[in-house]
Amino acid sequence: MTFSLHGQAVSQGIAIGRAHLVSHTTLEVAHQTIRERDVPMEVARFDLALSTVQAELASLHEEASAAGAPAELAVFVDIHAMILADPLLSEAPRQLIEERRCNAEWALVQQMEQLVGHFDEIDDAYLRERRQDIVQVVERVLKVLTGQPRKLGRRSKAADKEDCDLIIVAHDLSPADTIQFKNLKIGGFVTDLGGSTSHTAIVARSLAIPAVVGLHHARPLVRDNDLLIIDGSRGVLIVEPDPRVLEEYRLRKSELELERSKLKRLKTAKAATLDGEDVALQANIELPQDVSQAKEVDAAGIGLFRTEYLFMNRDELPTEDEQFEAYRSVAKGMAGKPVTIRTLDIGADKQARALKNLGGAERQEPNPALGLRAIRYCLAEPQLFMTQLRALLRASQFGYVRILVPMLTHVAEIEQTLGLLEMAKAQLREERVKFDEGVEVGGMIEIPAAALVVGPFLKRLRFLSIGTNDLIQYTLAIDRTDEAVSHLFDPLHPAVLRLIAGTIQAGARAEVPVAICGEMAGDPKLTHLLLGMGLRQFSMHPTQILEVKQQVVMADAEQLGSKVARLLRQDEPERIRELMERL
Ligand code: PEP
Ligand code: MG
Repeated sequence: MTFSLHGQAVSQGIAIGRAHLVSHTTLEVAHQTIRERDVPMEVARFDLALSTVQAELASLHEEASAAGAPAELAVFVDIHAMILADPLLSEAPRQLIEERRCNAEWALVQQMEQLVGHFDEIDDAYLRERRQDIVQVVERVLKVLTGQPRKLGRRSKAADKEDCDLIIVAHDLSPADTIQFKNLKIGGFVTDLGGSTSHTAIVARSLAIPAVVGLHHARPLVRDNDLLIIDGSRGVLIVEPDPRVLEEYRLRKSELELERSKLKRLKTAKAATLDGEDVALQANIELPQDVSQAKEVDAAGIGLFRTEYLFMNRDELPTEDEQFEAYRSVAKGMAGKPVTIRTLDIGADKQARALKNLGGAERQEPNPALGLRAIRYCLAEPQLFMTQLRALLRASQFGYVRILVPMLTHVAEIEQTLGLLEMAKAQLREERVKFDEGVEVGGMIEIPAAALVVGPFLKRLRFLSIGTNDLIQYTLAIDRTDEAVSHLFDPLHPAVLRLIAGTIQAGARAEVPVAICGEMAGDPKLTHLLLGMGLRQFSMHPTQILEVKQQVVMADAEQLGSKVARLLRQDEPERIRELMERL
């Protein structure tokens, strides 16, 4: 019988294949009373299950860190390892077993329910979804306790015979589960739980496989080997489609694949407009291993290395040597192409527990996005900043390293930063450590004040990079992490467009290169608009580079220039959208 289910579209594309059901542990475990003398054995059983899962996560971390795996994966596996190591999960159930003389499974689920109960009251959707991370970790331990498999299982003979893709159907999937996908020829996956910001959804996007989450009843309704279609753009799962629908989707799938292979051919094409304007398409990266993804699409350099990811999810700060190694490996990996390394942009939604919360460990920041973020934090913690600057300078002799400073507002911040950089240079000279004396320092333009009065920045800095994510947030007063106002986050707001265009034009007049490294740079629908504003340097997630290149090679920069000049004079959103259609 054919039927379809609707959920949340989290990763685009079409997948057609046979259902591969993933068994899921029920959290409804029975309570059993343990005899007094058996309590130590029960505790030992619990401990063994914990250490088994710890070892499994450690080996999954190894797999996830291998080249080619999305950078987020290893981080998410680490989050699960951290949750497991927390005494609230690793110690408290042991006490329950001892005090209540109950079985390990029951003690663990009791403790989990207590923990996740608090999450349900949280308003923030992202944090609320972290509840699921705890549940996933507990399920893994329960599987060990009850002797259930943790692997996804072998492909069925039928699927092998047809040589078709498998579609994973699960109640929920942890990021650790997704690591096994590459060995099983997985076409896509669907889950009953999960939202668009769940870690599994993020991994699906970086693996570029179609996925739909939040389907509620897929796992109980679908049977192993059912023929399935995932429409990752519309968030639909079609079970046992009739031949007409199947044919239609096969056609759409091959059209999409054709599009993709055409894009691949663009890899070696020169990024230039029809009228001969060269355009640099660079990559944004979070961790050194992302360089391989950037090279796969022949990125013109690294336009933004978000170094704060080196500081996250760990108890100790990375040392100068560790940072140096990370920066050097990117500099060497890009073999002479520009590598723009941004200094620590910590704060707001990017937190690192290894960093102290200024003003006391318990200080609640009233407005984190307006608080001690990025360069403000670094200037308040000069030792931390000096360590990073020294590491950056040391790495600068291994390639073309440029230093990018985030969230600048005041001239004094630039001057203090340049002063500290001079101090770091003097220290290294004294220690006879080599570095690039001419290392370029640039600034992020992501605060409206900086965009409005950009002259002093152009005078003191060698290049600028516009962070449109924050520029939009601060111009429109829209918290970029708050789903309730996300519909108001509008890159096409005339105020935003004028700030961007004004910065690009001022840069051109002063002959200081200006790039964009916010999400706008990677949106192919905006490429012509930005080219028309005069932008010639774009930096984006590597997966976007070829799509944006496709737009570049079809563009006439001069024609776009006059069309965009007209668009920028408009105040009415409707009119702007109309003119956008004609670019
Ligand atoms: C931006 O704000 O646009 C940007 C690129 O920085 P981040 O997203 O890391 O804040
Ligand atoms: Mg920013």
